[in-house]
Amino acid sequence: MTETQTPTEKNFTSSEVLQTKCGKCGLVCSVAPVSEESGVFYCGRCRPKETPNLRFEEAAKKLVFPCALGCGIQTVWGETLQHEVCCAYRKIVCPYINCNNSITLQGLRDHVNKCHYKFYLEALMCQKIDTLGTMHRLHFIEFGIFSILFFVKLERKDDIINFHYNVCLIWPQHYEQTELDKFDLRLVIEIPYLTVTSLIDNNKILDYDDRSHCVNCLYQNCDKYQHKNEFNLTNNIPLDVKGIFQKNISYTFVVYKKDTFSRTFPNSLKCPSCHAYMMDEIYFCNNGHSFCGKCMRKQSLNRKCRICGGDFLNVRNCSMERLIKRINVPCQKELFGCRFFGLVADLLVHEKSCKF
Ligand SMILES: [Zn+2]
Ligand SMILES: [Zn+2]
Ligand SMILES: [Zn+2]
Ligand SMILES: [Zn+2]
Ligand SMILES: [Zn+2]
Ligand SMILES: [Zn+2]
Ligand SMILES: [Zn+2]
Ligand SMILES: [Zn+2]
Repeated sequence: MTETQTPTEKNFTSSEVLQTKCGKCGLVCSVAPVSEESGVFYCGRCRPKETPNLRFEEAAKKLVFPCALGCGIQTVWGETLQHEVCCAYRKIVCPYINCNNSITLQGLRDHVNKCHYKFYLEALMCQKIDTLGTMHRLHFIEFGIFSILFFVKLERKDDIINFHYNVCLIWPQHYEQTELDKFDLRLVIEIPYLTVTSLIDNNKILDYDDRSHCVNCLYQNCDKYQHKNEFNLTNNIPLDVKGIFQKNISYTFVVYKKDTFSRTFPNSLKCPSCHAYMMDEIYFCNNGHSFCGKCMRKQSLNRKCRICGGDFLNVRNCSMERLIKRINVPCQKELFGCRFFGLVADLLVHEKSCKF
C-alpha cells in the first residue's frame, strides 16, 4: 500500500494534538499558529508568523488544553496564550536593574523579598534635590490580593523636577474590578514647603508585562531574554523646586482600604478646641493631647487644653502632621447623606460646595 497522506494533509486525533510538542520550546502546541517544517511542529509562541497547519488546528479547536506550564488550569484553543501571560508558573526575568534571575511570576514576590528587600514593603525614597539628575527606581508593593510594581523616574530640568511613574499590577491579573476599587492608592510626594498627593486612577494601572516593564528597559540598555528594551513612563507630576537648596525630595506610595480604618477614628483627628480637622501645624498640651495651630495662636482664648486643662506647649506633633496629610476622612455632613470621603485638604475644598 502506498502512503497517500503527506503529514500536512492527515487528520489528527485528539491525543495526537495533545501530545504534539513544539520543536523549539518543547511545550505542547496549544498556541496558534501551529506550523510544520520537515515533519517537526512549532507552536505560535515560538513562530508567531508562520502559516498554520489547518488540519492540526481544526482538531485542536475541539479540545481543552491543560496549561503547558503546569498550573493545572485548562484553556480552550485560542485562549492559551492569554492565560500563559498571567500564569503563576510562567518564567520571567526579574524586572530589577541588572538582575538576570529567572523566576516564575508567583515566585517574584519571594525573590524581591530576598534580593531587593529595601524596596519590598513600602515605597519610600529620599534624594537630595540639588544633585538630582535622572534617577530610576522600582518599588514592590502589596495590598489585599494584589501586588504592584511602581516604576519611578525622577528627572531634574532647571527648576522643575519631573516625577514620572507607572503602576503595574502583577498578580492576580484576573480580578474583579470591584475588588481593586476597594482600595485607594495614593502617591505622596514631599518637597520642602509642598506636599503633593496624587490619587492613582485604577484605570491607569497597567497589567504587568515582564518583557517591557523592567528597569533596564527604562534605561534602554536591556538585554534580558525577550525584553523589548523600551519602556516610557506615561504619568508625570511636574514639581517646581525653584530656590530650594540642600533639601530632600521624598515620596511614599500609600494604599488605604476604603471604608474601614480611617472611618473609625476621624474624631481623633479633630481639634478638641475648635472641632475642625487639624491641619498644617499641630501642637501638644503638656499631657500629650493634640490641638491645632489656629487655636494655639488665638491669644484671647483661655489657652488650656479642653480635655485635661493642661497648658499648651510650643511643641509640634510631627507624626500627626504627617498622618493627617495621608488619611481619608468623611465629610462632616456625612450623617446628612454626603458621600464625600477624601484627604483633609480635599475636604476643605469640598466643604465650600457641599450640598448637604
Ligand atoms: Zn514553541
Ligand atoms: Zn498556567
Ligand atoms: Zn531580581
Ligand atoms: Zn528589560
Ligand atoms: Zn483648633
Ligand atoms: Zn490635654
Ligand atoms: Zn518633630
Ligand atoms: Zn459634604
